[in-house]
Amino acid sequence: MPDDSAPKGAGSKHQGHGFSTRMSHAGRAGTRAHGFVNPPVVRGSTVLFANCADRMASATKRYDQALTYGTGGGPNHHALEDVICEIEGGHRCQIVSTGLAAVTVPLLAFLKTGEHLLLPDSVYGPARGFADGMLARLGIETSYYDPAVDEAGMAALIRPATKVVYTESPGSHTFEMQDIPAIARAAHAKGAKVMMDNTWGIHHFQPFRHGVDVSIQALTKYVVGHSDVLLGSITVGSEEDWQALRWASLQLGQYASPDDCWLALRGVRTMPVRLKQQAESALAVAAWLARRPEVLRVLHPALPGAPGHEIWKRDFTGACSLFGLVLRPEYSVAASHAFVDSLSLFGIGASWGGYESLALPTTGFVTRTATSGDTGGPTVRLHIGLEDTADIIADLEAGLAVLRGFKG
Ligand SMILES: *Cc1c(COP(=O)(O)O)cnc(C)c1O
Repeated sequence: MPDDSAPKGAGSKHQGHGFSTRMSHAGRAGTRAHGFVNPPVVRGSTVLFANCADRMASATKRYDQALTYGTGGGPNHHALEDVICEIEGGHRCQIVSTGLAAVTVPLLAFLKTGEHLLLPDSVYGPARGFADGMLARLGIETSYYDPAVDEAGMAALIRPATKVVYTESPGSHTFEMQDIPAIARAAHAKGAKVMMDNTWGIHHFQPFRHGVDVSIQALTKYVVGHSDVLLGSITVGSEEDWQALRWASLQLGQYASPDDCWLALRGVRTMPVRLKQQAESALAVAAWLARRPEVLRVLHPALPGAPGHEIWKRDFTGACSLFGLVLRPEYSVAASHAFVDSLSLFGIGASWGGYESLALPTTGFVTRTATSGDTGGPTVRLHIGLEDTADIIADLEAGLAVLRGFKG
């Protein structure tokens, strides 16, 4: 029998509760756990029916193949989708295989040949790759805009063919904050959808309260939290947008492993404490770095005085643990590499949101076409993990000595 006991969609049962409480309880009710705390992993392609009439009745639910075949998702997907709706305050959510798929699927859902897309120049690199690659091939044109654009500036950029205004705030390499409500007002006045990559903001930015129509999360980051699963989510604020998104997602055969959904559900239970600790530690490290003579500036929107802090203070309730470190321009890029190489607690690699610290030189790796994106000096992106803050600072202090002593 199809198990239809998994509730889907919005209608938070936890209104009035704090974030940690909601993350402890969301996505558990209604999944058959045989009395255990966590719902089991349900793997499956075929869904069986009691009789043919039962199957026919299910098949008439056009966009909800959930209960007719595996590609529609199963109890683990739907439980996770409920949790993400809870995190972002959305109407419905679609889980997809990666954060990148969470970027590409809604672009295909809301754009067609002859239409126009606006991407911020600070956008996540592979999103730029998809726009310049697949979307260009399909006859969908992209223009890149200055992420600092205001309402009038955005209004001037929107053409009759512009159907999606994409945002990412802050950008995950240069940490430029965007005025999302202003951008959304301009977009909606001209009938364009607003998409946002909300991976940095997680629950600290409530996209649907600020005019966003489609919110993207790379769950790979803090939701999974352990650097061992790739997963993405696309959340929408209205039933109309849900129908368009669900249609595209089913057409494209999007699916994620139920085991990975189960790991993400496991991750989400501890996410509030991990996030709180990592954010606190990152802010302490950022403040320490900002006082160092080797440092030109720290690109952490939650740090008073940092670029974008005023927008952050207005629209966000917190921060994550990813920020940029700009070294003084008298240090070379090679010296910044020596600094990164010398760190013992920081891995060198992409992605973030796990329990471990990472450092990644970004100078020379970030493509810009509409704005210079010049940060003023060699730049290193830092992700602060769950190591002791004092150990992280000691490691960075030793690294800065290597930077100062670098010859070459
Ligand atoms: C990592 C990331 C993605 C993509 O997520 P993957 O799961 O790694 O594909 C999208 N947007 C941002 C801002 C990211 O940092």
